[in-house]
Amino acid sequence: MIRAVLFDFGDTLFRRAGEAQGIVEIAERHDCPVDPDAARAIWTEIHERAKSPGEIALARDLSPEAHRREWTRLFSMADVVLPGMGRALYERETDPNLWVPYPDTVPCLEALRALGVPMGVVSDTGWDIRSVFSVRGLDRFIDAWVLSFEHGAVKPAGILFELACEELGVSPGEALMVGDNSMTDGGAVAVGIPTIIFPQVAEGAPRGLSCLERILCGD
Ligand SMILES: [Mg+2]
Repeated sequence: MIRAVLFDFGDTLFRRAGEAQGIVEIAERHDCPVDPDAARAIWTEIHERAKSPGEIALARDLSPEAHRREWTRLFSMADVVLPGMGRALYERETDPNLWVPYPDTVPCLEALRALGVPMGVVSDTGWDIRSVFSVRGLDRFIDAWVLSFEHGAVKPAGILFELACEELGVSPGEALMVGDNSMTDGGAVAVGIPTIIFPQVAEGAPRGLSCLERILCGD
Protein backbone atom coordinates (compact mmCIF):
# COMPACT_ATOMS: atom_id res chain seq x y z
CA MET A 1 0.00 0.00 0.00
CA ILE A 2 1.29 3.46 -0.92
CA ARG A 3 1.40 5.76 2.12
CA ALA A 4 3.69 8.64 1.03
CA VAL A 5 4.69 10.45 -2.15
CA LEU A 6 8.13 11.74 -3.15
CA PHE A 7 8.28 14.39 -5.86
CA ASP A 8 11.03 15.61 -8.13
CA PHE A 9 11.00 19.42 -8.41
CA GLY A 10 11.99 20.73 -11.88
CA ASP A 11 9.69 19.74 -14.74
CA THR A 12 7.60 17.66 -12.35
CA LEU A 13 5.93 20.13 -9.94
CA PHE A 14 7.34 23.40 -11.35
CA ARG A 15 8.69 24.65 -14.65
CA ARG A 16 10.71 27.74 -15.52
CA ALA A 17 8.61 30.71 -16.64
CA GLY A 18 9.48 32.03 -20.06
CA GLU A 19 12.69 30.10 -20.72
CA ALA A 20 14.23 31.69 -23.88
CA GLN A 21 12.00 34.71 -23.28
CA GLY A 22 14.49 35.61 -20.54
CA ILE A 23 17.16 36.28 -23.15
CA VAL A 24 14.73 38.49 -25.10
CA GLU A 25 13.68 40.46 -22.01
CA ILE A 26 17.21 41.05 -20.73
CA ALA A 27 18.35 42.14 -24.20
CA GLU A 28 15.41 44.54 -24.55
CA ARG A 29 16.09 46.04 -21.14
CA HIS A 30 19.58 46.92 -22.39
CA ASP A 31 18.35 48.35 -25.71
CA CYS A 32 19.92 45.45 -27.55
CA PRO A 33 16.93 43.61 -29.09
CA VAL A 34 17.37 40.02 -30.20
CA ASP A 35 15.27 37.94 -32.58
CA PRO A 36 13.11 35.51 -30.51
CA ASP A 37 14.07 32.60 -32.80
CA ALA A 38 17.77 33.35 -32.27
CA ALA A 39 17.17 33.52 -28.50
CA ARG A 40 15.38 30.17 -28.61
CA ALA A 41 18.25 28.58 -30.54
CA ILE A 42 20.78 29.81 -27.96
CA TRP A 43 18.58 28.63 -25.07
CA THR A 44 18.24 25.18 -26.65
CA GLU A 45 22.00 24.95 -27.25
CA ILE A 46 22.71 25.85 -23.62
CA HIS A 47 20.38 23.17 -22.31
CA GLU A 48 21.54 20.53 -24.77
CA ARG A 49 25.12 21.12 -23.65
CA ALA A 50 24.03 21.09 -20.00
CA LYS A 51 22.77 17.53 -20.45
CA SER A 52 26.05 16.21 -21.88
CA PRO A 53 28.04 13.69 -19.77
CA GLY A 54 31.00 16.09 -19.61
CA GLU A 55 28.89 18.85 -18.08
CA ILE A 56 27.09 16.53 -15.68
CA ALA A 57 30.48 15.25 -14.49
CA LEU A 58 31.20 18.76 -13.19
CA ALA A 59 28.89 18.02 -10.24
CA ARG A 60 27.10 21.37 -10.37
CA ASP A 61 24.35 20.13 -8.04
CA LEU A 62 26.69 19.33 -5.17
CA SER A 63 27.28 22.88 -3.91
CA PRO A 64 25.87 26.40 -4.39
CA GLU A 65 29.32 27.57 -5.54
CA ALA A 66 29.63 24.89 -8.23
CA HIS A 67 26.05 25.52 -9.35
CA ARG A 68 26.62 29.25 -9.78
CA ARG A 69 30.00 28.77 -11.47
CA GLU A 70 29.00 26.06 -13.95
CA TRP A 71 25.56 27.44 -14.86
CA THR A 72 26.88 30.99 -15.27
CA ARG A 73 29.52 29.59 -17.64
CA LEU A 74 26.86 27.69 -19.61
CA PHE A 75 24.51 30.69 -19.73
CA SER A 76 27.43 32.83 -20.92
CA MET A 77 26.94 31.22 -24.33
CA ALA A 78 24.28 33.96 -24.58
CA ASP A 79 26.92 36.67 -24.09
CA VAL A 80 27.08 36.79 -27.90
CA VAL A 81 23.80 38.73 -27.62
CA LEU A 82 24.90 40.99 -24.78
CA PRO A 83 27.99 40.89 -22.56
CA GLY A 84 26.95 39.86 -19.04
CA MET A 85 23.88 37.94 -20.26
CA GLY A 86 25.16 34.74 -18.60
CA ARG A 87 25.19 36.32 -15.15
CA ALA A 88 21.74 37.84 -15.69
CA LEU A 89 20.32 34.49 -16.83
CA TYR A 90 21.75 32.79 -13.75
CA GLU A 91 19.94 35.29 -11.52
CA ARG A 92 16.70 34.43 -13.33
CA GLU A 93 17.36 30.69 -12.95
CA THR A 94 17.50 31.03 -9.17
CA ASP A 95 14.69 33.59 -8.81
CA PRO A 96 11.91 31.72 -6.96
CA ASN A 97 9.26 33.89 -8.61
CA LEU A 98 10.30 32.70 -12.06
CA TRP A 99 9.39 29.07 -11.41
CA VAL A 100 5.70 28.31 -11.89
CA PRO A 101 3.63 25.34 -10.75
CA TYR A 102 1.86 23.29 -13.42
CA PRO A 103 -1.92 23.85 -13.53
CA ASP A 104 -2.52 20.59 -11.62
CA THR A 105 0.32 20.92 -9.08
CA VAL A 106 -1.58 22.76 -6.35
CA PRO A 107 -4.80 20.70 -6.74
CA CYS A 108 -2.67 17.54 -6.45
CA LEU A 109 -0.85 18.72 -3.32
CA GLU A 110 -4.16 19.77 -1.75
CA ALA A 111 -5.82 16.46 -2.59
CA LEU A 112 -2.97 14.38 -1.17
CA ARG A 113 -2.87 16.52 1.96
CA ALA A 114 -6.63 16.02 2.40
CA LEU A 115 -5.98 12.27 2.27
CA GLY A 116 -3.33 12.67 4.99
CA VAL A 117 -0.51 11.54 2.69
CA PRO A 118 2.95 12.79 3.75
CA MET A 119 4.94 14.32 0.88
CA GLY A 120 8.62 14.91 0.22
CA VAL A 121 10.77 16.58 -2.43
CA VAL A 122 13.89 14.80 -3.71
CA SER A 123 15.79 17.15 -6.01
CA ASP A 124 19.15 17.49 -7.74
CA THR A 125 19.82 21.16 -7.11
CA GLY A 126 22.67 23.45 -6.19
CA TRP A 127 20.43 26.15 -4.71
CA ASP A 128 17.74 26.14 -2.09
CA ILE A 129 14.50 25.49 -3.96
CA ARG A 130 12.44 25.65 -0.75
CA SER A 131 12.03 29.35 -1.60
CA VAL A 132 10.16 28.44 -4.80
CA PHE A 133 7.51 26.74 -2.67
CA SER A 134 7.49 29.30 0.14
CA VAL A 135 6.91 32.36 -2.10
CA ARG A 136 3.65 30.69 -3.15
CA GLY A 137 2.74 29.35 0.29
CA LEU A 138 3.23 25.77 -0.90
CA ASP A 139 6.02 24.76 1.49
CA ARG A 140 3.30 23.81 4.02
CA PHE A 141 2.58 20.70 1.92
CA ILE A 142 6.13 19.35 2.03
CA ASP A 143 7.12 17.24 5.04
CA ALA A 144 10.64 16.22 3.91
CA TRP A 145 13.25 17.99 1.79
CA VAL A 146 16.16 16.01 0.36
CA LEU A 147 18.26 18.38 -1.76
CA SER A 148 21.40 17.04 -3.42
CA PHE A 149 23.69 19.91 -2.38
CA GLU A 150 22.88 19.27 1.28
CA HIS A 151 23.75 15.57 1.09
CA GLY A 152 26.78 15.32 -1.19
CA ALA A 153 25.03 13.02 -3.65
CA VAL A 154 22.87 13.34 -6.74
CA LYS A 155 20.15 11.14 -8.17
CA PRO A 156 20.06 8.31 -9.09
CA ALA A 157 21.88 7.66 -5.76
CA GLY A 158 19.50 5.52 -3.73
CA ILE A 159 20.51 7.14 -0.45
CA LEU A 160 18.57 10.32 -1.34
CA PHE A 161 15.30 8.45 -1.82
CA GLU A 162 15.93 6.35 1.28
CA LEU A 163 16.52 9.47 3.37
CA ALA A 164 13.20 10.92 2.22
CA CYS A 165 11.36 7.71 3.14
CA GLU A 166 13.02 7.71 6.54
CA GLU A 167 11.96 11.31 7.18
CA LEU A 168 8.40 10.53 6.16
CA GLY A 169 8.33 7.39 8.33
CA VAL A 170 7.61 4.91 5.55
CA SER A 171 9.47 1.98 4.03
CA PRO A 172 10.56 2.27 0.36
CA GLY A 173 7.79 -0.10 -0.70
CA GLU A 174 5.21 2.20 0.88
CA ALA A 175 6.37 5.28 -1.05
CA LEU A 176 5.73 6.45 -4.60
CA MET A 177 8.37 8.49 -6.46
CA VAL A 178 7.08 10.91 -9.11
CA GLY A 179 9.46 12.50 -11.62
CA ASP A 180 10.24 13.33 -15.24
CA ASN A 181 13.70 11.81 -15.76
CA SER A 182 14.12 8.05 -16.05
CA MET A 183 17.91 8.25 -15.51
CA THR A 184 17.82 10.28 -12.29
CA ASP A 185 14.34 9.93 -10.77
CA GLY A 186 14.32 6.30 -11.93
CA GLY A 187 17.03 5.60 -9.34
CA ALA A 188 14.24 5.19 -6.81
CA VAL A 189 13.32 1.85 -8.39
CA ALA A 190 16.71 0.37 -7.44
CA VAL A 191 15.94 0.91 -3.75
CA GLY A 192 12.47 -0.59 -4.01
CA ILE A 193 10.30 2.50 -4.54
CA PRO A 194 7.52 2.26 -7.14
CA THR A 195 8.08 5.16 -9.54
CA ILE A 196 6.08 7.13 -12.08
CA ILE A 197 7.98 9.01 -14.81
CA PHE A 198 5.83 11.52 -16.67
CA PRO A 199 6.73 12.50 -20.25
CA GLN A 200 7.11 16.20 -21.09
CA VAL A 201 3.94 18.17 -21.78
CA ALA A 202 3.27 21.26 -23.88
CA GLU A 203 3.64 24.64 -22.18
CA GLY A 204 0.50 25.45 -20.20
CA ALA A 205 -0.76 21.85 -20.18
CA PRO A 206 -1.48 19.93 -16.95
CA ARG A 207 1.34 17.66 -15.78
CA GLY A 208 -0.84 14.59 -15.34
CA LEU A 209 -0.66 14.67 -11.55
CA SER A 210 -4.39 14.10 -11.02
CA CYS A 211 -3.84 10.35 -11.31
CA LEU A 212 -1.97 10.37 -7.99
CA GLU A 213 -5.10 11.01 -5.94
CA ARG A 214 -6.74 8.00 -7.57
CA ILE A 215 -3.68 5.82 -6.91
CA LEU A 216 -3.56 6.88 -3.26
CA CYS A 217 -7.30 6.29 -2.87
CA GLY A 218 -6.86 2.79 -4.26
CA ASP A 219 -9.30 3.48 -7.13
MG1 LIG B 1 13.04 16.98 -13.10
